[in-house]
Amino acid sequence: MKRLENKVILITGGASGLGLAAAEKAAEEGASLFLVDMNEEKLQEAAEKLKQHGTQVEAVKADVTNEEEVKQFVETCVSTFGRIDGFFNNAGIEGKQNLTEDYGTDEFAKVVDVNLNGVFYGMKYVLKEMKKQGAGSIVNAASVGGIRGVGSQSGYAASKHGVVGLTRNSGVEYGEFNVRINAIAPGAIMTDMVRGSLKQMAGDDWESFGEQFVQANPSKRFGKPEEVGALVVFLLSDESTFINGSVITIDGGQSAK
Ligand code: NAD
Repeated sequence: MKRLENKVILITGGASGLGLAAAEKAAEEGASLFLVDMNEEKLQEAAEKLKQHGTQVEAVKADVTNEEEVKQFVETCVSTFGRIDGFFNNAGIEGKQNLTEDYGTDEFAKVVDVNLNGVFYGMKYVLKEMKKQGAGSIVNAASVGGIRGVGSQSGYAASKHGVVGLTRNSGVEYGEFNVRINAIAPGAIMTDMVRGSLKQMAGDDWESFGEQFVQANPSKRFGKPEEVGALVVFLLSDESTFINGSVITIDGGQSAK
């Protein structure tokens, strides 16, 4: 039996990077998928690709910073599929890098709005459903930047440390309802987000800059989105039923240093 057979998995930020990689792994494992993203074009492309696995895929354009839209897509997922077994609460942005004294106040608010408020709204409405069902698993996207200092990322660091706090708090609250809430803390995984930040730091020379940058990682390479997708599927599946309130790093050893 496939690991997510008969399970309904909701993924925000599902059109790209880690969200899409997790969706692909989940489709291979037999899940029905409800994808959310604010980039409609990439979302439709992703949905078409995922349907080739023979799985049912619904795709809805929404902005996770809009609480009403979050409430709506959670309701639509339940009315379409009848339930939500797993939720990868993943949509996020990095924001412009800068020293704290130069970090834009608007930039700070924007990054926190997507990465922390958006994650909170998702948890709020999905947890209500999972509690009613008496089962469910949520995986929040934190980051190595949510468990240690990386520098130049005030908004990102604040939001991701916040995600870790939300995860632990809700893990304590919902364990008795058979609902688990965990977070993943990826290091540098090669997605559009990381390509964007390398370009911000090094311009046209970003690829060779990236090669140098990654030498500081014990594994001397960037992570692959599918490696994160595999972890997410494990946490959403019934193979991880005693893991709750945990923050799991996936960073090639970066945070072990
Ligand atoms: P990505 O840019 O490839 O994908 C993010 C997706 O989220 C995009 O499709 C984007 O359209 C969507 N999105 C952004 N804001 C949204 C909003 N307000 N509403 C709905 N959708 C929105 O990035 P990624 O690397 O796949 O990152 C996914 C998550 O993983 C993020 O939360 C990120 O912070 C976290 N993360 C990534 C890395 C990494 O190295 N790639 C490391 C640590 C944590």
